[in-house]
Amino acid sequence: MSSTAWTDHRPEGTTVDAIVIGGGAAGLNGALMLARSRRSVVVVDSGDPRNAPADGVRGLLGLDGIAPAELLHHGREEVGRYGGQVLTGEVVSAAPAAPTPDGDLRFVVGLADGRVLHARRLLVATGLRDVLPDIPGLAAHWGHGVVHCPYCHGWEVRDEAIGVLGVGPMSIHQIWLFRQLTDDLVFFSGGTDLDDDTRTRLAVRGVTVVDTPVARVESDDRGITGVRLADGLLVPRRVLAVTTTMQARTDGLEGLDLPVEDLPNGMGRHVASGMAGTTQVPGVWVAGNATELHAQVGASAAAGGLAGSHINAHLAAADTAAALHLAGRSARRAS
Ligand SMILES: Cc1cc2nc3c(=O)[nH]c(=O)nc-3n(C[C@H](O)[C@H](O)[C@H](O)COP(=O)(O)OP(=O)(O)OC[C@H]3O[C@@H](n4cnc5c(N)ncnc54)[C@H](O)[C@@H]3O)c2cc1C
Repeated sequence: MSSTAWTDHRPEGTTVDAIVIGGGAAGLNGALMLARSRRSVVVVDSGDPRNAPADGVRGLLGLDGIAPAELLHHGREEVGRYGGQVLTGEVVSAAPAAPTPDGDLRFVVGLADGRVLHARRLLVATGLRDVLPDIPGLAAHWGHGVVHCPYCHGWEVRDEAIGVLGVGPMSIHQIWLFRQLTDDLVFFSGGTDLDDDTRTRLAVRGVTVVDTPVARVESDDRGITGVRLADGLLVPRRVLAVTTTMQARTDGLEGLDLPVEDLPNGMGRHVASGMAGTTQVPGVWVAGNATELHAQVGASAAAGGLAGSHINAHLAAADTAAALHLAGRSARRAS
């Protein structure tokens, strides 16, 4: 049942123990756990991780500052060391297939290039998409002059002239975190409802509030120069912090019928999961930003590893059930 001698480098036509959809930190660590457990595992990755625009991965113990692409390169090598395969491609369909006579689950996964793969279990580790507010000039600076996460970029922008663009209740939370990093902070309220108490708190922390609507972000060849307001005034800024709407990436996975939930305060939507990344869909696990929108690289990798080990345990139980089924059949034939 389990493909312990997994050396076939053409997974089409065979049923592998697990397919991992998405090869970022979560997917690769899940695959690493599975491959090290002598499970046949194929990672399918479309090569577009969330932090691709960033220069380095920050706050990752032992690897602080490593380039995102370099980290994933090491991860792919490590998965390959134990016989796991990483395919470049995009999953465009995934669905349960008929289970085996002994009750083991089956899935069929289609790739954009026409390849079709079969597996006993799936790990969804597709990450999320950040949707930026629709402000002219903003998107071009995403991951550099436009940042969202004080733990990812905060130290690098310390003491800069920073502006927080108000897009909802989470922007207030962001103000306090970026105020920790600079004394020069402007909040562009953007219609965010600020009560008197909040305005007082901002004032005593030295945060300037601008209520005039933002027209666009201005920049030159060195980066952001400021925020142009609707009345024509330019407020000089070098860095802008913004909260994004975080949308779990589930395109192409509709056939799995995964439970997707909206989070409060317009934060976004995620795939709901339980212990170790289990989902309501038998045989399908989810890990990383697809289910935990706020997980950083370390937390995503940890969740992928946990899901991978949980999948291995389920497969071990299924292998035993299959052996029992076979033993029962042989006994019936003999009698
Ligand atoms: C600008 C920026 C900077 C950041 N900096 C840091 C930092 O310094 N430190 C830190 O800890 N965190 C940082 N983060 C957060 C970090 O990006 C996430 O924690 C991490 O990427 C989550 O890992 P993941 O594996 O869940 O998803 P991802 O890394 O996004 O990986 C998902 C993978 O799945 C693939 N995929 C998606 N759909 C499909 C499909 N249908 N078929 C095949 N493949 C698919 C994608 O191409 C991608 O490669 C940053 C985020 C951003 C936006």
